Amino acid sequence: MDAYDRLQQELRAHPHARLVAVSKTKPVEQILALYQRGQRIFGENKPQEMAQKQALLPTDIDWHLIGHLQTNKVKLIAPFVGLIHSVDSLRLLMEIDKQAQRFERTIPCLLQIKIAQEESKFGLAPEAAMALVADPQRAKLVNAPLVGVMGLATFTEDTTQIKEEFALLQQVFQQLKTTFFAADPSFRECSMGMSDDYPLALEAGSTMIRIGTLLFGQR
Ligand SMILES: *Cc1c(COP(=O)(O)O)cnc(C)c1O
Repeated sequence: MDAYDRLQQELRAHPHARLVAVSKTKPVEQILALYQRGQRIFGENKPQEMAQKQALLPTDIDWHLIGHLQTNKVKLIAPFVGLIHSVDSLRLLMEIDKQAQRFERTIPCLLQIKIAQEESKFGLAPEAAMALVADPQRAKLVNAPLVGVMGLATFTEDTTQIKEEFALLQQVFQQLKTTFFAADPSFRECSMGMSDDYPLALEAGSTMIRIGTLLFGQR
């Protein structure tokens, strides 16, 4: 029994949570090995790397972009990406909508919320996220529907702090849901938890854990 089996087993106790296998920097052979065991969702943080791998791998892989995305890179992944976890501006969401239209598809998106105390992390403050969703322009972007939120906790041993940050993300998610998406069942994703903190994230109501190191080893 290896890390993948153990994760699958833990996820059985959390039927609303799915596993995103974070394969950034790892070769296609390792992705294919996990694919052959049934894994379908893979996460990458660089658009170019994701596009290169996508071209070499089975077409039913559900590719999730989890890293910071520049507007001018959206077109590289627009033909195939299944979910973008890292939307942090209306401008980016508008570009995703435009590129999705070009390829006659919809690209579901998550708003990345800044929950960590660390300075370097990307993401919107909770108030900025509320303002973005409330913007009348946003509701017109039907090819880039918002389906939830994503956040990264501080890199720390302090589990109390990590729990507080995950609870904050869950609170922002619930607030957005009740304020703007009460009638929209597709707004349901709360993407949180990585190799070091995913048990806390699952306890806090995560619907997507993003696991790299545990599955593929150190980068
Ligand atoms: C790399 C990365 C992960 C996975 O991190 P591990 O600690 O290797 O599990 C998850 N989320 C994001 C946004 C990442 O960049």
